[in-house]
Amino acid sequence: MSSIDLHSHSTASDGALSPTELVDRALQRGITHLALTDHDCVSGIEEAEQAADGTALTIIPGAEFSTTWENNQIHVVGLFIDYKNDLLAEHLKKVRIKREERAVAIGAKLSKLGIPDAYNKACALAGNNAVITRGNYARLIFSEGKASSIDDAFNAFLKKGRMAYVNTVWFDIAEVVSVIKNSGGVAVLAHPRRYDLTNTKLRRLIGYFRESGGEALEVASCQQRPSDRDYLAKLSTEYGLMASQGSDLHIAATWRDLGLHLDLPREVKPVWMAGEAAKYNFPAV
Ligand code: AMP
Ligand code: MN
Ligand code: MN
Ligand code: MN
Repeated sequence: MSSIDLHSHSTASDGALSPTELVDRALQRGITHLALTDHDCVSGIEEAEQAADGTALTIIPGAEFSTTWENNQIHVVGLFIDYKNDLLAEHLKKVRIKREERAVAIGAKLSKLGIPDAYNKACALAGNNAVITRGNYARLIFSEGKASSIDDAFNAFLKKGRMAYVNTVWFDIAEVVSVIKNSGGVAVLAHPRRYDLTNTKLRRLIGYFRESGGEALEVASCQQRPSDRDYLAKLSTEYGLMASQGSDLHIAATWRDLGLHLDLPREVKPVWMAGEAAKYNFPAV
């Protein structure tokens, strides 16, 4: 258990808890530093900050950005960002349009597959004005009884190659990293083991990420083999990148919760040692 969790979602994108509920959960679990990193949006941060005001919890403003690298969908988490930055707002507006078009296209496919009016239903299930991801659609498919679990919804409908998959070319990693840096943040390559890349290809991705100005790797996550954590720690020191830790909480479960199993191996440099993190009062390492 760690009191620092730098990757989480709220109803502003595909999380189950509102920003206020997420803050309550963080306080119950003794979290002192929580980054809210919704997909391609920052609209939950203000509410989270207000809910955490006057408590022992510090909110780290962040977002999880969608990028495409060699036909793979890669996520980059931006931490310590100025979420009111103009260039950031411009970027998020562009993503919003792409996401909206894709969500409509996924909805049309699902409607043909037996879920009438899927797009509107997915929006209704999600938070007010939420950024719609495949995660929201998975919940709809499950709630309509078309899949036995969220995972099953992905495997049956939403994964690459499945009937409701829509291929979208997101933004280049370099472009997203520059948006993050321009807003005063640090770019973190999210969950590097979740892309189904060979070690050789993962190294190439990390090389490109670093060349693009990326500064950290997400090394620790909740449900992770010790060998994966060790390998990512090794890559972070080898490539001179800092290390981050995050639950990527969407819906709490016994195996995934805020702060759960998030301890970093000793040899890495935690991302909260970055100059950009100075004003958030992290504990000294
Ligand atoms: P999108 O960015 O719209 O492609 O949606 C990505 C989101 O879908 C991720 O952030 C996860 O929340 C969710 N997701 C992707 N793959 C899976 C999976 N196999 N099982 C459950 N959730 C998944
Ligand atoms: Mn998600
Ligand atoms: Mn992700
Ligand atoms: Mn995430």
